[in-house]
Amino acid sequence: MKNYNVLVTARSFGKEVPEPMERLLKEGLHILEWREGSGHEISELIGKIGQADAWIVGSYPIQAALLENAQRLQIIAKHGVGIDNIDVPAATKRGILVAIAPGSNDQAVADLTIGLLLSLVRSIPQANASVKSGRWERFQGFGLTGKTIGIIGLGHIGLNVAKRTKGFDMEILGCDPYWPEERAREIDIVRADFETLIGKSDVITLHVPLTPETEKLIGEHQIALMKKGVWIVNTSRGKIIDEKAMYQALASGKVAGYATDVFEIEPPEGNPLLDLTNVVATPHIGSYTMDALRMLGDSVVDTILKLFHGEKSEFIINPEAYHFLRR
Ligand code: NAD
Repeated sequence: MKNYNVLVTARSFGKEVPEPMERLLKEGLHILEWREGSGHEISELIGKIGQADAWIVGSYPIQAALLENAQRLQIIAKHGVGIDNIDVPAATKRGILVAIAPGSNDQAVADLTIGLLLSLVRSIPQANASVKSGRWERFQGFGLTGKTIGIIGLGHIGLNVAKRTKGFDMEILGCDPYWPEERAREIDIVRADFETLIGKSDVITLHVPLTPETEKLIGEHQIALMKKGVWIVNTSRGKIIDEKAMYQALASGKVAGYATDVFEIEPPEGNPLLDLTNVVATPHIGSYTMDALRMLGDSVVDTILKLFHGEKSEFIINPEAYHFLRR
């Protein structure tokens, strides 16, 4: 294979699960590393972008200005599925393909969603902290059986959350304007429009990508339409919730509790949500399991190798960039 360079900035690619990185090396590819969050200088990253033919990225913001340095870059492969950190139109304009790794982390994120939901309605983190500090308090829980859960976004993760919730014998409402009706019937989800869903649900869980359309999807107005005492779980993106409105609603008791893996700004230093006892928080660990890391790593490597072998990948989200691809 030609002497290609692969820039790796995703924090976990090739670390705990080394095999995907080893596959790249076995193919004779050269790895350029600049890890996100490692504190290295941006100038160092810019130099490496200029030499890279492929870029494996995590959550680092890839804006148009940064791509001006990409002289030979053919593909940005997201080590995940959310592409809100990538300026896809700018990449397309420069003939750079953008790929995602769908179906690699959906089980892991669905598991965490259920974990957060149960933690929230049964106050598990608070009860754990209480017992360990020598107290023996009782925390009254909220039963899920027979209640209604509203799933916003019925893609890979939302569907896996639906499958898991069936075991709780809950009524499942789902809302996804881009999802075919027959599929909803197939897995026994009652399809609802957004306003009906948020008005009828006892629990709401968010599984949409962050786009201009979904930014602040849940704000003051939407919360006003919800039942008093609703529980909300967010493992999608922090910006999908208006955090100020959520704070008010949690403080007033309109929203009984909020469990989240994601924040508007991460890490959420000084975020007032963290001061509330009815908030359960995790540090964006939805995908962070060995199984998901293996699948994510394999997926990005498959996509990059396909491209370098002259084959097309179904995981390219801007196939129009193939027309401009520099070889
Ligand atoms: P997906 O593309 O398979 O599914 C997203 C679904 O949302 C699609 O079916 C789409 O039609 C739907 N959708 C888009 N706009 C909508 C709207 N306005 N209302 C309702 N539905 C809408 O993606 P996925 O793999 O299920 O992941 C969903 C999101 O979860 C990602 O975009 C990412 O932001 C987030 N995520 C978070 C973590 C984490 O670590 N917490 C990990 C992976 C993904």
